Amino acid sequence: MVDQDSTTELDVVVVGAGFAGMYLLHRLRAAGFSTVVLEAADDVGGTWYWNRYPGARCDIPTVDYTYSFDPELEDEWTWSEKYATQPEILRYAQHVADKHDLRRDIRFETRVDAARWDEAASRWHVRTEAGDELTCRYYVMATGCLSMPKTPDIEGADRFGGEVYFTSRWPHEGVDFTGKRVGVIGTGSSAIQSIPLIAQQASELTVFQRTPNFSIPAHNGPVPEERRADLEADRDTYREAAKWSRGGIPGEPTELSALLVDDQTRQQRLDAAWEAGELFEIIGVFNDVLVNPAANEVVADYIRGKIRSIVDDPETADALCPTDHPFATKRPCLDSGYYATYNLPHVHLVDLRKHPITSVTETGIDTADESYELDAIVYATGFDAMTGALVSVDIEGRDGVTLQQKWADGPTTYLGLASVGFPNLFTVTGPGSPSVLSNMMVSIEQHVDWIADTLVDLRAQGFDVIEPTQTAESGWVQHVNDCADITLYPTANSWYMGANVPGKPRVFLPYVGGVDKYREACDEVVAAGYLGFELRGDGRTQCNDGVIRRLQPDVAMVLEMMAELELPTMDSMSAEDARAFSEATSAERPPGPDVGEIVDGTLPGAEGHDLRYRLYRPTTAGPHPVVAYFHGGGWVLGSHDSDDPFCRDLCVRADAVIVSVDYRHAPEARFPAAAEDGFAAVQWIAGHPQELGGIPGALAVCGWSAGANVAAVAAQKARDAGAPHLSAQVLVNPVTDSDFSRPSYEENGEGYLLTRDLMSWFWDHYADPADRTDPRAAPLRNPDLSGLPPALVVTCEFDPLRDEGEAYAEALEAAGVPTRHLAGRGQMHTSITAVDMIISATDLRAEIGAELGRMVRAGVAVS
Ligand SMILES: Cc1cc2nc3c(=O)[nH]c(=O)nc-3n(C[C@H](O)[C@H](O)[C@H](O)COP(=O)(O)OP(=O)(O)OC[C@H]3O[C@@H](n4cnc5c(N)ncnc54)[C@H](O)[C@@H]3O)c2cc1C
Repeated sequence: MVDQDSTTELDVVVVGAGFAGMYLLHRLRAAGFSTVVLEAADDVGGTWYWNRYPGARCDIPTVDYTYSFDPELEDEWTWSEKYATQPEILRYAQHVADKHDLRRDIRFETRVDAARWDEAASRWHVRTEAGDELTCRYYVMATGCLSMPKTPDIEGADRFGGEVYFTSRWPHEGVDFTGKRVGVIGTGSSAIQSIPLIAQQASELTVFQRTPNFSIPAHNGPVPEERRADLEADRDTYREAAKWSRGGIPGEPTELSALLVDDQTRQQRLDAAWEAGELFEIIGVFNDVLVNPAANEVVADYIRGKIRSIVDDPETADALCPTDHPFATKRPCLDSGYYATYNLPHVHLVDLRKHPITSVTETGIDTADESYELDAIVYATGFDAMTGALVSVDIEGRDGVTLQQKWADGPTTYLGLASVGFPNLFTVTGPGSPSVLSNMMVSIEQHVDWIADTLVDLRAQGFDVIEPTQTAESGWVQHVNDCADITLYPTANSWYMGANVPGKPRVFLPYVGGVDKYREACDEVVAAGYLGFELRGDGRTQCNDGVIRRLQPDVAMVLEMMAELELPTMDSMSAEDARAFSEATSAERPPGPDVGEIVDGTLPGAEGHDLRYRLYRPTTAGPHPVVAYFHGGGWVLGSHDSDDPFCRDLCVRADAVIVSVDYRHAPEARFPAAAEDGFAAVQWIAGHPQELGGIPGALAVCGWSAGANVAAVAAQKARDAGAPHLSAQVLVNPVTDSDFSRPSYEENGEGYLLTRDLMSWFWDHYADPADRTDPRAAPLRNPDLSGLPPALVVTCEFDPLRDEGEAYAEALEAAGVPTRHLAGRGQMHTSITAVDMIISATDLRAEIGAELGRMVRAGVAVS
């Protein structure tokens, strides 16, 4: 036990005695660290201490929302309901505090208002509101994500003479609303839980709604039998599955898309999710709910239909139907009779979008067109989420910079656990970690374990200072944003985005990549010798700097899926089998956007060979510029329609006719057949603008991978021949050389679908070693690149061909060719052509298409 009067040296000070602070205390004390917890309330429980409003309860099944660290505790505590109420959860917290004798090291009714890092002593000085100071080596803010109530920003709020309540600071003795006229402001989770119960007592209940939220019925009752049985059958396996799940509750994510299932299956799944009464069931009912607006609309529409079927008055029902944000991009709610409450004669809804509040008065609330006389006002106006409690303490790090100053434009953290400039400070479930998007109990335990294990490790290794590096933090912030950006979350004005607090920067706060992926990243950081952290102590410094996640999240997902399938590699197959394999996998792709018209035809290639082509025409009125397009496939695979989704995408975005050419393939037709065919096709296309619906003289070449090699060679040949005139060359992940010694072959030769071995296999099929330095095979080897058409060269970070693409862009530029280079951060060789699959490459695709359209128009030949 730590001496309560002591202000001297502590190993750790923890702020907050909710579930996070309590478990921290237990772990740190057991590890032999002198630890004190400071808590503003007069008891443990955090969220469940403060939020005592009627109907307050869990919205994650309580058997999952429970500590797993103590098997004994699991045996002796049984939850009475599927979703336990606040008093029961608080009793649980108190029971844990008793069982582990936690209170002796918690100083209650002690609010922390400042903390300062002393660089010379490598210690934190933590100051309480009462003026006491504690000094510690490590400082942990376990202050909660939803613990800082938002102050109501309503004109006249302090004028009201009646009773005023905040759901987040509810009186301990409870409130009796019998016979009273009550106004509730807000329709978030707390309001949706409390409104049905307040309506049971109040004589009149008026709900003031700014924006409606999606809510589904909780169907509360006993713990569902199946879940109880799973848990009791093998608790360890169950808890382990929760830790490695997406959201912190065991369960396999579905692979069904809302848009691809048949009508009956769609309806059945939605009905089942509605009946299950679980948030994660309805959010995960289809795999594209959070990424595809049309898929999201399927679920949103279903819930709106349910609201209309429950609420009698059509106007009220309409006002309760959310239409301003995609489903689940704001936290959806679970309710018990919420919508039906509006059918009671004494319950009224005021839609503030139509009738805004002008002022709170001495006796009630005035809207633009009506006055409401009230005896009591309940503010259910939410929280300054995730950062509010952290920046409300004046935390001063190295060089006098405060956390509030550092986070003025939004929080930046490494793993949501630490922040540059604040050595030895940890945050539990901080911004940049899964936190509020997960079952918080699982996330809390994971963070506490990580922090406690780290402190033990540091001690064992003789270090006593830990701080993330700028590289690691920036990389993590980028990854957090990358994950959010492929979802619909950032499109909503939600508290996840800080949008509920005036002046708060709009940044997507939690990590949306999943509890499982997040845990993996944290574990890998440790396994890599605390990658991205600087450790100091005993006159030593250790720093293994780096970024833990550089791949785009959807690229990583595709790679993982492919690895799980354990498919044979193409370089182990015959050309024929590889073609069949490649066609079979292409058949599974999303189709790409609609175009105006598709026409198949043939054109003459080199030496009189007929080549098939597929023409994609935009929906807009022609004539259009024309693009001769060459598909990828290492000169061995593919055809005029094998890059179909990408050609459609280019056609739409560039507003140009795309003519995709099926040049001859190796090994049947080896070098230089593809190169000769490519040029012959360009010549023919240039000579037939009217027939193709093209603008005479507005012609570009474009290609992907080996097709970009064919396109680059065609551009060189056209220059040498003096015709045709080309406005542009757009080379996406081009093969420009046969040299495998560049670093990108070393870095990316394995693990990113296009491997070094596969490139060898392609080259072996295509060209004899002696031919591989011929500029018609390796256009980078051409000693003269001047006079070529303006170029857009696109490379991807995780592509073995990256460096030769970059080298070609540089060489073109050096030769005076107007050249733009686009680098796909976190992308691999196949990312750009994976239309509607690699969503993170959408912006790149948009830029490529727009630039192609612009260049091909700008460079029209004047004849
Ligand atoms: C109404 C409501 C319902 C919720 N339901 C769920 C749910 O069903 N499932 C789920 O996963 N999550 C839920 N949450 C989120 C919930 O906050 C977490 O699950 C969890 O309880 C957080 O625990 P914590 O210890 O991290 O923080 P908290 O429980 O918020 O505890 C933080 C403590 O820190 C103290 N504190 C803060 N600042 C200071 C300071 N400067 N000085 C001293 N003390 C300070 C506070 O007084 C508080 O006691 C809910 C939240 C709310 C508000």
